[in-house]
Amino acid sequence: MKHPMPDKHLQLKSLPGVDHILTLAEADEQFKQIPRSLIVESVRRAIDNTRKQILEDKPAIPSDEAILKQAALLAGQKMKNKLNPLINATGVVLHTNLGRALLCQDALDNILAVSSSYSNLELNLTTGKRGIRYAAIEALICELTGAQAAMAVNNNAGAVLLALNTLAQGRQVIVSRGELVEIGGSFRVPDVMVKSGCILKEVGTTNRTHPHDYANAVTEETGLLLKVHTSNYKIEGFTKSVPLKELVDIGNAHGIPVMEDLGSGTLIDFSQFGLPCEPPVFEQVASGADVVTFSGDKLLGGPQAGIIVGTKKYMDQIKANPLTRALRIDKMTLAALEATLKLYRDSHNAIEQIPTLRMLTMSYEQLARNAEALFSLVTQAVGDKAELSLADMTSRPGGGSYPGLTLPTRCLTIRPNTISVTALDRKLRAFDPAVMGRIEDDCFIIDPRTLQPGQDKTLANILKKLID
Ligand SMILES: *Cc1c(COP(=O)(O)O)cnc(C)c1O
Repeated sequence: MKHPMPDKHLQLKSLPGVDHILTLAEADEQFKQIPRSLIVESVRRAIDNTRKQILEDKPAIPSDEAILKQAALLAGQKMKNKLNPLINATGVVLHTNLGRALLCQDALDNILAVSSSYSNLELNLTTGKRGIRYAAIEALICELTGAQAAMAVNNNAGAVLLALNTLAQGRQVIVSRGELVEIGGSFRVPDVMVKSGCILKEVGTTNRTHPHDYANAVTEETGLLLKVHTSNYKIEGFTKSVPLKELVDIGNAHGIPVMEDLGSGTLIDFSQFGLPCEPPVFEQVASGADVVTFSGDKLLGGPQAGIIVGTKKYMDQIKANPLTRALRIDKMTLAALEATLKLYRDSHNAIEQIPTLRMLTMSYEQLARNAEALFSLVTQAVGDKAELSLADMTSRPGGGSYPGLTLPTRCLTIRPNTISVTALDRKLRAFDPAVMGRIEDDCFIIDPRTLQPGQDKTLANILKKLID
């Protein structure tokens, strides 16, 4: 026999008061770590929610225990950080949504050392007078790139904005139509041009631009010749672009500076580690560019930063631009950048110590061994509750580097028998730590390339809990 719903008014009357629940909460273990203001708010919300449910004729339990439990849940959600570490099983090494480059241990140690203590951030210890923030890295960047002068700002977008504004405000900047790049997250060359106060002068066509296209466009109004690295796309087929060296010759002939936005700058020649050659910064500097800008957290594998290198003449102007103050990096970034850059004095050392480089240059054999180990761990964890297999697949460098390049890898594929693969994906993202992978052919794919040491065991435990 069905019980009739208890009278709404009786239920509302039986709702406990805030003060009563607060007294109970004070003695309750669940609320031990939670600040009082948050307990008060959560208790109020729990009571309000319950009242609303009663009014809307939804099933509600107005008991002390139920409301305490709900309040603890609400408070617990608020106590959790919103920004959290997660497991990247996608195989995309420089995943912008997942924080791009992982810092090397030296960088982490240096951040802690420099930011937990006072430092000589802007103090010249020799003179005892005010020093320059970039002194910590300028000589080092010059040593690694061959440039005359260097500085760093908040990110490469900021570096481009600052350099354009300094070199060509109110004047025309000549760029090839094939290089009017959009980087995800609304960085578009034409828009940055407007914001930096420059006038965009497009030359050539989407697929082909010749030296005479630049030369013919030069007028009294020209302030700069700009080359933009097409970091995240590739034009193939009937194409032509003007090499930096030739652009420098045109600039020199007309007395106009030449700048390159390199995007993902590298400080080593990757071809020695089996990857295609992205133009290293020292080559671009050697080609005679007056200014080159690149990111700190793409292929360099350091903290978010925009590094600007160039000739002393133009770098002095850039450093003197009041915008530098608005774009300046903080001491944590500087500490991380210096520690990361120092590793580049020995490229083998850099490959071993800098996570981005280590992951990019991992051999297929190593990845296959890691996949095999992961296969055994997950087999033990989930038994016959999922079908597991190993498959040859590809990983991507990501983050606006190496467009179109894929790296051979060996992945674990999981098809759960107890839940759907989309449900597994959803549960993995909701877990703490969240796991980001990808779905292909109705399987959840785990690429060992982007797993960090020890995460294979964590993953097996998580899968054991979720595939039940
Ligand atoms: C990535 C990129 C940028 C933006 O660099 P951030 O460091 O993300 O600000 C600008 N230009 C090019 C060509 C890029 O590849």
